Amino acid sequence: MNIRENFSNIQNNIRKLCEKKGRNPEQVQLIAVTKYVTDKRVEEAINAGITNFAENRTDNYSKRKNIFPNYTWHLIGSLQTRKVKDVINEVDYFHALDRESLAKEINKRATKEISCFVQVNVSGEESKHGLKLDEVENFIKSLENYSKIKVVGLMTMAPFIEDEIVLRNCFRELKILRDRIKNLNLSYAPCEYLSMGMSNDYKIALDEGATHIRIGTALVGNELKRD
Ligand SMILES: *Cc1c(COP(=O)(O)O)cnc(C)c1O
Repeated sequence: MNIRENFSNIQNNIRKLCEKKGRNPEQVQLIAVTKYVTDKRVEEAINAGITNFAENRTDNYSKRKNIFPNYTWHLIGSLQTRKVKDVINEVDYFHALDRESLAKEINKRATKEISCFVQVNVSGEESKHGLKLDEVENFIKSLENYSKIKVVGLMTMAPFIEDEIVLRNCFRELKILRDRIKNLNLSYAPCEYLSMGMSNDYKIALDEGATHIRIGTALVGNELKRD
């Protein structure tokens, strides 16, 4: 596992895919997902020049943010309402807002504005968190009075399959929805960003307009993963 090399390969792919679409590669945020690696790997990633990181569990999130405070940290996993108070004020970006009860608790506990992505279950798989596509607009409209919540974008996890057409459609549908929400011009929901794409599908996601890609295995590895 050579993080420097992986980082450079991914950056090249970002550059190429952006060029093809006339996009500025600097507007793509690469996030290193460190949930399956040791602190040593995080250090290596920092030394390679990576600045944005993500964890999916609140306890690990707090630990890592504490050890590496000078970097931007994204909380990408589903968040239990009772854990909001433990973590929310350390969160730079939250990628899994998926219900009003959670928004309410975040609003109650946050001492600053929290940048949130609304998680969307585009594929409709039972096992996945997130709102259905047709629920998102009303959900976002319901957040108007939660002054601590800022909806910066939409997030999805594509199905774990290799069918490129299915993956592409999933990302494309999220982008169409993002464009629609953005055009509502809600002050609390600029909704400019698209958090989509992981190790196995980030190139397709970029091709379909991803602004934030979340990569673990293909960037920092997954040495602690058990399955
Ligand atoms: C683990 C995880 C990732 C990264 O997965 P890889 O396949 O290792 O790149 C991205 N997003 C979320 C929400 C995750 O939980």
